[in-house]
Amino acid sequence: TVAIDGYSSSGKSTMARRLAGATGYRYIDSGAMYRAVTLYALDHGMISATGEVDAEALAAALPSIRIDFAPATEAGGQQHTLLNGTDVETEIRRLRVSNAVSPVAAIPAVRRALTEIQQAMGREGGIVMDGRDIGTTVFPHAELKIFVNASAETRARRRFKEMMETGAQVSYEDVLANVVRRDHIDETRAESPLRKADDALELDNSTMTLAEQDAWLMEQFEKRVQA
Ligand code: C5P
Repeated sequence: TVAIDGYSSSGKSTMARRLAGATGYRYIDSGAMYRAVTLYALDHGMISATGEVDAEALAAALPSIRIDFAPATEAGGQQHTLLNGTDVETEIRRLRVSNAVSPVAAIPAVRRALTEIQQAMGREGGIVMDGRDIGTTVFPHAELKIFVNASAETRARRRFKEMMETGAQVSYEDVLANVVRRDHIDETRAESPLRKADDALELDNSTMTLAEQDAWLMEQFEKRVQA
């Protein structure tokens, strides 16, 4: 079991996806699950215009929210997140969801439900999961734990570039504000806040190339998982 945690847009999912591809492990994006629940809440009128979440209504609706992952359709492509059978991969990446997700992810009932599903997915091992609390809460016994960081500006620049490539109409300032706000909510929430597990390896990838990152990751994997 490999747990990759870190700040928003730190490149965790790229790392996790590439490691899974190189090792044949299954990759699970736990953030996509929180995003899918948020999309459900937005579409069912459970989040007010000011961002207030109706936690009680959402907790009651959790049993009727099903999240699945469909394999990528093209080689090396991204898997798709399904919400009650509908492909929501593009929608959950929009700023509308990014702006609402952290308050939803702070709701204890939501965390408990998703943690349970994630633990069931990892029961057999052979999994790389990325998120905020994977090494601390979901898989505290993971063989390899990594905590990724980079400056907020580096992360916002990466995210902005990604969003521009998908044709989104956003400004760099809005993306940076979202990254900083999400970090703050994720770090200060009461239930399983974003935190480096004591036994996690820390990686600041601000100035690393993808190739350097891949090499570092494979080395850690070989040392801790395959040894
Ligand atoms: O990883 P990503 O940025 O897509 O995650 C979206 C949001 O979901 C995070 O900002 C955080 O609020 C929440 N999240 C979480 N725990 C996880 C994964 C994501 O609270 N394990």
